[in-house]
Amino acid sequence: MNNINKLIEAASYAAREHTGQTRKGERAEPYINHPLEVANLIASVGKVEDTDILIAAILHDTIEDTGSTAEELTAMFGERVTGFVLEVTDDKSLPKAERKRLQIEHSPHLSHEAKHIKLADKISNITDITNSPPADWSLDRRREYVNWAVAVVAGLRGSNQELENHFDSLVLRAETQFAEESSPE
Ligand code: NDP
Ligand code: ZN
Repeated sequence: MNNINKLIEAASYAAREHTGQTRKGERAEPYINHPLEVANLIASVGKVEDTDILIAAILHDTIEDTGSTAEELTAMFGERVTGFVLEVTDDKSLPKAERKRLQIEHSPHLSHEAKHIKLADKISNITDITNSPPADWSLDRRREYVNWAVAVVAGLRGSNQELENHFDSLVLRAETQFAEESSPE
């Protein structure tokens, strides 16, 4: 399979796997919008041309959130792609607070390639927290999420300047948005 075929195959596979899943925002966007956005950010903002990173970005939430297994991904997309996906997959047997703590602890130790995926994942989620947050989240919870993402991204710095700059500008935009929402005119 050539690289373009493999990329389209990954998009099609991830769309099938995430069937019926939605994002948590009020508009309940199809879940697949998020992994496609993560891959697009890495390619268009990060200027990354390594298709294995883009494929892993498209697949990054499949093991965590669908029935996909590492064995299946390895058979379809190879060991390198699957390794990147596993690097950004949380251990779901752990409590949520512990998983969040481990993301901060682990981020500096991710491979250079997986750091791009983690960075773009946080960019996509902060965009959603700003524009399309879960309906039941308070401003404090949204702020808490952004602060946590900033702590995770601290460990990813030095991997891709464009993505890091984009993240920083979105954090500023999120803070401006929260300030406006907390004291509307
Ligand atoms: P969740 O982990 O439950 O939700 C955030 C995750 O949901 C994102 O990382 C993203 O992950 C996914 N997601 C899907 N749709 C959206 C969307 N529209 N916007 C943003 N993210 C979306 O929440 P928390 O990160 O808050 O984790 C739970 C923690 O929150 C607990 O540890 C607890 O301490 C704390 N908490 C705080 C409360 C408060 O009011 N301050 C109340 C309750 C809990 P992905 O990329 O994988 O899709
Ligand atoms: Zn994600």
